[in-house]
Amino acid sequence: MMTDNIFLKIIDKKIPAKIVYEDERCLAFRDINPQAPTHVLIIPIKVIPTHDEIGDDDKELLGHLHVVAAKLARELGHGDGYRLVLNCRESAGQTVPHLHMHLLAGRSFAWPPG
Ligand code: 5GP
Repeated sequence: MMTDNIFLKIIDKKIPAKIVYEDERCLAFRDINPQAPTHVLIIPIKVIPTHDEIGDDDKELLGHLHVVAAKLARELGHGDGYRLVLNCRESAGQTVPHLHMHLLAGRSFAWPPG
């Protein structure tokens, strides 16, 4: 199990982050390099390096991350529209090997994404 990624340090409060939501299963905090007026990362406490490594045991957890994302979007004033992004592995743009969902809002978004 990987024990040295930057998000684990944020979970352990070893490095600071602007945390907007926290419970026993997940943490949500502002991205350090925001790509939209609202850019929040929602991560599980459980270490799952990539989306490709989720399993049947993670169904409830993944559902929970989505429910948290929807609640946060509403609470942050973006219930009218937001984008969720989950990059899987380097070729898709993943840079931190700890599953994370990007919640982006506050501007318009092009489709298809770049
Ligand atoms: P990925 O490219 O893996 O999908 O997304 C990783 C995200 O983590 C990037 O948007 C990057 O800006 C963000 N990030 C990387 N290091 C830190 C950090 O130390 N603190 C915070 N808040 N965000 C980070």
